[in-house]
Amino acid sequence: MSRSRILLVEDEPNIARGLIFNLEEEGYAVTHASTGEEALKASKRGGYALVVLDLMLPGIDGLEVCRRLRREDPRIPILILTALSEERDRIRGLAEGADDYLTKPFSLEEFLLRIAGMLRRSQWYRSEGPSGRLRFGDNEVDLDSGMAMTPQGEFSLTELEMKMLRTFAGREGEVLSRAELLSEIWGISPDTETRTLDNFIVRMRKYFEHDPSEPRHFLTVRGKGYRFLG
Ligand code: CA
Repeated sequence: MSRSRILLVEDEPNIARGLIFNLEEEGYAVTHASTGEEALKASKRGGYALVVLDLMLPGIDGLEVCRRLRREDPRIPILILTALSEERDRIRGLAEGADDYLTKPFSLEEFLLRIAGMLRRSQWYRSEGPSGRLRFGDNEVDLDSGMAMTPQGEFSLTELEMKMLRTFAGREGEVLSRAELLSEIWGISPDTETRTLDNFIVRMRKYFEHDPSEPRHFLTVRGKGYRFLG
């Protein structure tokens, strides 16, 4: 497996050095930018799995960098770094599309855990998805080809079915609201009244449940949404 590349945008040399060292120790490849301009230039090359972005930068500031990165790539996870006194910036950063934040000073352990978690979640959201096989119950789905192998036989899943499966599997055990699922999978406004979602769940149960009327994997959480158990 190739190493995940992280774009680290941090102007303070000492902090940058420490973070790079620890990220590399964890097996990540790191590209370092010390100004907003450098960050935007580096981001054009693409191929990053995640961006760590200090908000207080000389020149183009972190908020503007965040806004532009998000415009270029709606999916890349962005972790912003702020000082305790910059609460307003932190909130604005989240509004500009950052996924999470850490307040300086933070522990390296928390930093690394945060990054690992963000990468794990983002893998499932990417439309190209993770490679490999997803196994649950007596089912196996090839996440590259979309081929499903179930006790009923072998068949290929549609793009939307794959997307639903990835969304569920990436957040196994969590209750996903109808609104979340609709916007995550179909990209439509949660206000839209639609039976599409329910029809898809019915279909998933038909494919993968031993007894669709007694589901063990695609569960209804009354009044809330749905939950996937592997
Ligand atoms: Ca700074």
